[in-house]
Amino acid sequence: MNGDAEKRDYVIKGIGVSPGIAIGKAYLFDRFDAKVSFYKLRDKSLVSKEIKRLRNALKESEHQLREIKNKLSELAGREPLYIIDVHIMILKDRMFLNHTVNYIKEMGVNAEWALRMTIDRYREIFEKVDDEYLRGRISDIRYVGQMILRNLAGEDREAIPPDVGERGIIIAVDLSPADTAQMMINKVLGFATDMGGKTSHTAIVARAVEIPAVVGLESITRVVKTNDDIIVDGSMGMVVVNPSPEMLRRYEYKKRHFEEDKEYFLRYAPLPAVTKDNYKVEIGGNIEFVEEIPSVLVHGADGIGLYRTEYIYINKEQLPTEEEHFDHYRRVVSAEGLRWATIRTFDLGGDKFFSDPKLAKEMNPQMGLRAIRLCLREVDLFKVQLRAIARASAFGKTRIMFPMISGIEELREAKRIFCEVKEELRRKGVAVGDDIEMGAMIEVPSAVMMAEELAKEVDFFSIGTNDLIQYALAIDRINERVTYLYEPLHPAVLKLIKHVVDVGHRRGIPVAMCGEMAGEPMYIMVLLGLEIDELSMNPLAIPKVKKMIRGSTLKESRELLERVMKFSSAAEIREFVTRIMRERFPGEFRLED
Ligand code: PEP
Ligand code: MG
Repeated sequence: MNGDAEKRDYVIKGIGVSPGIAIGKAYLFDRFDAKVSFYKLRDKSLVSKEIKRLRNALKESEHQLREIKNKLSELAGREPLYIIDVHIMILKDRMFLNHTVNYIKEMGVNAEWALRMTIDRYREIFEKVDDEYLRGRISDIRYVGQMILRNLAGEDREAIPPDVGERGIIIAVDLSPADTAQMMINKVLGFATDMGGKTSHTAIVARAVEIPAVVGLESITRVVKTNDDIIVDGSMGMVVVNPSPEMLRRYEYKKRHFEEDKEYFLRYAPLPAVTKDNYKVEIGGNIEFVEEIPSVLVHGADGIGLYRTEYIYINKEQLPTEEEHFDHYRRVVSAEGLRWATIRTFDLGGDKFFSDPKLAKEMNPQMGLRAIRLCLREVDLFKVQLRAIARASAFGKTRIMFPMISGIEELREAKRIFCEVKEELRRKGVAVGDDIEMGAMIEVPSAVMMAEELAKEVDFFSIGTNDLIQYALAIDRINERVTYLYEPLHPAVLKLIKHVVDVGHRRGIPVAMCGEMAGEPMYIMVLLGLEIDELSMNPLAIPKVKKMIRGSTLKESRELLERVMKFSSAAEIREFVTRIMRERFPGEFRLED
């Protein structure tokens, strides 16, 4: 450890991508430090030998990747498998091979040296790419390059060593999904990386295997060394290096609490979300991947309230085919134990990147060409998805909803295209469900104002508070400098939500909420008072929310809401709600909540 990190309680902030606390010894996993020798070839006759060594190493790497893929297919979902396929594709890429062979021939260097040059060349090209997702793919190339280097050196494959064992916390620049799967086998406690964001592959796998993780720490590999004591707080997105005994005690308590909470609340998962005076709320699970369905079931959702289908695109090098879409949707709608599935058409753009060069970088992407706007611009792309949804609807109760509707034209146009697609399929004799419900996400203030008109066009509303708050309060949801203004209990936000629910009910359609607000225990009585019909949330949040709903009455929640609506500032509402909720549910809130 160096510099400030030698101090006790050195805290580094990053992005928490998988909740929970890990306390243990650091293991610096630095595959980029492989001991590789670089040398000039003594004479030209050695060139063909080097090329042969390179080809053998490529073959061996492919063989190893296929082995990892087999192992992974028994342990994890499909997502990591796709990523391994990408690694294999890089290995087999002709340009990758040709560049390296040319370096060997033209510069007379050994295969390792030539390979490093190829990787550096790719890195240079990728670093200049505007698209953040594409830029991130350099980690895949580096991973593959490192694997080839190890095979050239004849070393054993590097993996998370077994002796990291039960107490290890992995510290790395970046991790591949294969590394993360290995962590599962070795029962690694947690990990922290320099690179990555919420949608990085590492984050995706970490959440799926429930290992606490913080990414995007930028310099953690430079300040931590193997065997340092370390705490990873995946819930808060923080890493504490060299914790003092006092800090350690605090975190041991927090960790115990987190695990006890998880265990304790899980017993409420199978119970219905009904208040003491018999008011029933439907509970949905929000998912990004079909691999999350088992977790949705374990945590007690009635259905899928939001399937963020854009993730099908985000983890692909190429556009997904109709069959791929269909395969995902069929698995979601036909999942046993789930009564319905709400498939949201893709919401790309904003902070969700898409590797299509046609989409220029925008100044204000949150207000740019995203969601339904993009769908209606790229109708062919949209139709591929719509066809797959329509076909999947023959396999189970399907709801489709359109994101970021700002007025009636967009909704009518989306519906028209969907009906056209359904008709075409039926004409061809393809089975399509006949009770597909269509809904609009209400997440733009203009849609709130137009709720009366929109309600006539759809079967349900789903309020996306993440965006509704962003647009209503003019706060970019990914800008950490204004997060202090992001306030679900702002009176304007509550008035907007109330208006949507009132209009929906007057028009006889159910109103769901699928933004983060829906799964926040502190707001449960406010949400009950608002009489939202369905709350859809991150599956892990469901059991506690159910417990709290079961401990409340509709009557007291309505009374609470009535008082809340009389305040004119967010601060007053928060103060009031926090006080009441703490009194009402003394066991559910800790001091930091
Ligand atoms: C929302 O905006 O609240 C929502 C649920 O959609 P997303 O977070 O995917 O934008
Ligand atoms: Mg949204």
